This record gives sequence, C-alpha cells and structure tokens, in this order.
Amino acid sequence: MAPLAATAMKLNEFGKLMNPLASTETMPVLFLGHGNPMNAIEENEFVRGFRNVGKELPKPTAILCISAHWETRGTFVTAMQHPKTIHDFGGFPQALFDVQYPAPGSPELAKETKSIIKKTEVALDESWGLDHGCWSVVKNLYPNADVPVIQMSLDYYQTPQYHYDLAKELSVLRKKGVLIIGSGNMVHNLGMIAWDKLNTTDYAYDWATEASEKMKGFIHNNNHQALINYKSQGKAFDLAIPSPDHFLPLLYTLALKGENEKLSLFNDKAVAGSLTMTSVKIG
Ligand code: ZN
Repeated sequence: MAPLAATAMKLNEFGKLMNPLASTETMPVLFLGHGNPMNAIEENEFVRGFRNVGKELPKPTAILCISAHWETRGTFVTAMQHPKTIHDFGGFPQALFDVQYPAPGSPELAKETKSIIKKTEVALDESWGLDHGCWSVVKNLYPNADVPVIQMSLDYYQTPQYHYDLAKELSVLRKKGVLIIGSGNMVHNLGMIAWDKLNTTDYAYDWATEASEKMKGFIHNNNHQALINYKSQGKAFDLAIPSPDHFLPLLYTLALKGENEKLSLFNDKAVAGSLTMTSVKIG
C-alpha cells in the first residue's frame, strides 16, 4: 500500500475511535411485540416477521432497547462492555436457558445517552445485562450478535406522559446509526391467557380485539395523546393493559416518530386470547 493511502486509512481508523457515533442517515425505530420467550428458539410466523424486518434495516452502529422487563426507580442504561444474557423467566425448557446472546455492550452509547437526556439524571448500570424482552427478539434480527446492544430501564414511578417526553430526547441517536427498539406487547394480560388456545392462530377475546383495533387507529392517526391517556380509554384498555410495563415501550417508539414519517405494522396477530404481537416499524 502506498504510504499516503496507509496514512489515510490510519486516520480513518483513528476518526472512528474518537467518534464512535458519527452522523448517519436517520435510522428507523421499532416496537417489537415479544410475547413468548420461546420465540428466541422457535420457528414461527412471528420469528419470520422479526427476521424480515431485520433484513430490511440498514445495519445499525448499535441498538438501544427499552424492554418491558427492566423496571427501576430512576432511569438507568447498561454501560458494561459485555452484558450478560439474563434468563428472567421460569418454567421453560432447558434449551431456552441455554441460550446465550453475546452481543457486546457499548459504554460509549451509554455515556452518550446519559449526556443527551436532560429530563432526569440517567445512571450508568454495571449489573443488569440483556433481559429476555431484549435478547429474545434482537436475536432474531441480528443472529450473529455482531451489533452492540444497550438497554434503558423504565422508571416505574413515572407517568406515561413522562416516559413519552423522555423518549423524545433520544431522537438525536437516530442520526448516529442507533436502532432504538421498544420491546413489550400492546395487549398483554397474562392472567387471562387462554391456555387451551395457545396454538390457535390469531385467537383474541372480544375485549382484546377491541383494544387492539383502537390502539392501531390511534397509532395510524398519530393520536399519541390518546395512547398516553390509556387509563381513560375504558374497559377494553383496562383489560389489555393491567400494568404499564409492556405498554410503555410502545410510547417510547411512537414518541420518536417524525410528523411525516412512514409507519407500518407487522406481526399483527393475537395469541392465546389476551396477547397481541402487533409490532411497529417507523421510517
Ligand atoms: Zn414480556
């Protein structure tokens, strides 16, 4: 290699080291209905849906995931170099506990996220890792675990409006190659699961269908306020969202939508009466 070219390459490498989050095209944003953790190892239509979306996306420099399964007092981001795979569930086959998703972390992105959020003091976390709300779906998008992943926690003590406003502060990351993923389920009532209908495709209780249709209407009409005010939407919503954890990640995703940005749904089906897998792609 000519000396000049070698120098240019070295400078380029140096530039990457000094500026790991350089400017890029605006990255899409996702909400993924994660459902059953077995989606991490099973082959089914939802897994194919995740995989197809993964193939359509530009390869991110890193992923920031807001999972239903990490609730804290205050807001944390994982900041370790090597996040562990957390098997935060019980009663599943050993094969699921054997899954490791060894994606690297990104202390740089954790620090950057902390610095851009003004609404609260974000703390850097060294003890969490990747919970199943994150790895069971991200694994289907990036099976080689070659994209760094960090998680941001849900502050359990805050209002839906607070979460929506906080999420907006993340928007600058979309221009730095970061794929932001909210992972939960729009309709999620584990207490009412129809165990005998687990393998019946698209089986939903009437209230689940009603809530799901209303949610999708609000999403398509950009009526985010109606979703933020989900507690005032009546009985079907009360049954669909018995606790906020699986719904709030949707608000993070929607808060990042630009006014005229394209939005599409996928995996738009119900499971076992009281869950929907409906997922959203923005951009
Ligand atoms: Zn879950």
